[in-house]
Amino acid sequence: MKTLLVAFALAANLGTIPTASAQAYPSRPIVVVVPFAAGGPTDALARIVTERMRKTLGQPILVENTSGAAGSIGVGRVARAAPDGYTVGIGHWSTHVVNGAIYDLQYDLLKDFEPVAMITIGPQLIIAKNAVPAKDLKELIAWVKANQDHVSAGTAGVGSASHVGGIYFQNLTGTKFQFVPYRGTGPAIQDLMGGHIDLMFDQAANSLPHVRGGKIKAYAVTSGTRLAAAPEIPTVDEAGLPGLHIAVWHAFWVPKGTPKDVVAKLNAAIVEALADPDVRQRLADLGQEIPPRDQQTPEALGAYHKAEVDKWWPMIKAAGIKPE
Ligand code: ASP
Repeated sequence: MKTLLVAFALAANLGTIPTASAQAYPSRPIVVVVPFAAGGPTDALARIVTERMRKTLGQPILVENTSGAAGSIGVGRVARAAPDGYTVGIGHWSTHVVNGAIYDLQYDLLKDFEPVAMITIGPQLIIAKNAVPAKDLKELIAWVKANQDHVSAGTAGVGSASHVGGIYFQNLTGTKFQFVPYRGTGPAIQDLMGGHIDLMFDQAANSLPHVRGGKIKAYAVTSGTRLAAAPEIPTVDEAGLPGLHIAVWHAFWVPKGTPKDVVAKLNAAIVEALADPDVRQRLADLGQEIPPRDQQTPEALGAYHKAEVDKWWPMIKAAGIKPE
């Protein structure tokens, strides 16, 4: 009888666990999986936003860099994690859209995650090591054409934003050069500054501080408008490659099945972070735009994500990009 009572008590307790844990959430540290190397753009944005989120959530947020295969390894780790709000993934246009058209993923980008919120939208910069003699984008294109057999461009892996940006450039200019994959553009930009590679199509969030420091050259921004944070850099349209527009948007997701109120708590912490003047300034300094408040909801991210998949998959599949 006693055993039976204990069993009943246990069952009753277990039955209440999901609600109880959601109410208490978060009661321990949260891990945010960055699917690229430390020191890169995704890592930088994750750290700025989560630093402020921990104030709202009252728990430490640990950034874990699980890199490789253009972010698909880290995103897979989030897909397989317990849906309890303690494993959160950050990703972007290429991890959550492009990769699905290139890799044979072990997860479904639209069905295996709950959207939490979009945090930023930012263009890329076409950058080169200081030793490249070209003074503007037209001269850069001519230099690449004249040196194609030796030119190298660093990427964060096949299908990453930096790789797709480079392929877009090659298609528009009729050039071919070698891509060198890294575990993120954080380590790639170190090699660019060291002069080991020539070019990169890198997110402004990563390259802008080094352009300001005079360590690399920026030729154009992959957008129709100049960056408020670096108005001296011309747009691709102004500089001679009209239409090479790439906007890399970043967002947070959790594994499918994460309770709605847990998603709501995470979303509220992100919304609060994005409203903080200090966070806004830090993101703006990195050339990032923050989506308007009505675009910061899980529903808006879900709809936008789906629309991006529908828009880009046919184009990316047609480009025939293959994993190495
Ligand atoms: N987001 C990547 C990184 O953090 C770069 C890329 O997608 O090209 O390194």
